[in-house]
Amino acid sequence: MSYLFKSKIKCKQCQQNLRGKLERSKKVYICSSYSKLSASCIRYRVLETDIIDMVTGHLKLRGVVLEGDLASYVDRVDVTLKDIGVI
Ligand SMILES: [Zn+2]
Repeated sequence: MSYLFKSKIKCKQCQQNLRGKLERSKKVYICSSYSKLSASCIRYRVLETDIIDMVTGHLKLRGVVLEGDLASYVDRVDVTLKDIGVI
């Protein structure tokens, strides 16, 4: 399983990367400092399709014509709880 935005999505809450995970056959990203044993961050998830939509929309606004891999246009995505809400 490959995740398009692997190591490119950062949790604003704790500055760790979000890691890719398959949940009900959907690709999601979850903060890597969250685990069931030590919840040092909050459990929330971001759908990969939502990030794709966001990045595509952003590039469109800037008049960028997409060629090839979408992730190559992305250096870093910051995720805050305000953006996505807590699950
Ligand atoms: Zn976090």
